[in-house]
Amino acid sequence: MPFVYASCRVWNVSRWQRNDAGKKVNRIFHPREEWVIIPDSHPAIIKMEQTEQAEQAEQAYQNMQKNNPNTHKRRMGQRAKYLLARLPNCEHCGHNLQIKYNKKNGEAYYCCGYRRLSQANCNNRRRYNQDLIEDTVMEMINEFLLQEGYIEDQLHQQLELVEKQKQESKVEIEQLTGEKKEIESRIDTSLELLVDGRVAKERIIIKMQQDEQRLRDLQNRIIKQEEIKAPTAEDLQVFRNQLRSKVEGELDIDTKKSVLNSIVKKMGVNQDGLVEIDFCVALGNTP
Ligand SMILES: [Zn+2]
Repeated sequence: MPFVYASCRVWNVSRWQRNDAGKKVNRIFHPREEWVIIPDSHPAIIKMEQTEQAEQAEQAYQNMQKNNPNTHKRRMGQRAKYLLARLPNCEHCGHNLQIKYNKKNGEAYYCCGYRRLSQANCNNRRRYNQDLIEDTVMEMINEFLLQEGYIEDQLHQQLELVEKQKQESKVEIEQLTGEKKEIESRIDTSLELLVDGRVAKERIIIKMQQDEQRLRDLQNRIIKQEEIKAPTAEDLQVFRNQLRSKVEGELDIDTKKSVLNSIVKKMGVNQDGLVEIDFCVALGNTP
């Protein structure tokens, strides 16, 4: 299954206003046009296992949420709307961010959960306004995944890579097919010996079983090599349509959250206000 791996960094979302003593007193959010967004690309094809790991982690998280009815409850009893629950990580200490409320002004913000336990744990004092960071993520999804351009570039690069891989796998398929023929003829020989009856049956049978196992392994390896393919423009279309239906408009938070969990592979924030998002997009999903 092919993947497109995209990542981007957002700088200059906000800055601190200082008083005469140099103390930070007020955070100024810059307008969207002043953000500095740096697209970044990683090796185009991600190993299948990594994605499976991510899915397993997601499953474990869902189960945990199910078993803990309080996870989503706010103090007031209403369902909390943490779009990024579990996603952003503190780049200073690697721990999850947590939502906190400022009782004075009613602001909700994400902050380092480890620092929250003790200030000695982590130096990341930064608070990320909930609306701001959530909107940033949704904007990034729109800009990099929904709008034409970025994924197309990634796909183009990936196509070249896949072509190269295909050449290599052609050679490997030939080798494997050769090995397969050898084993098949060995099994034929064993069968003849078995019919002939001059060699002890047990020994022949053990050898045949081993050969049959090797044959199955080879067959699987050949299938894997033959499966290498690049995502097509149609795959991308299907993906975009699905994504649109899940993130655009007034949708419930759980739908948005599940889509974020499936496409945001990693997200990090740091003291300087950098927001880093790694998207991993599976294209050409076979059911
Ligand atoms: Zn931290």
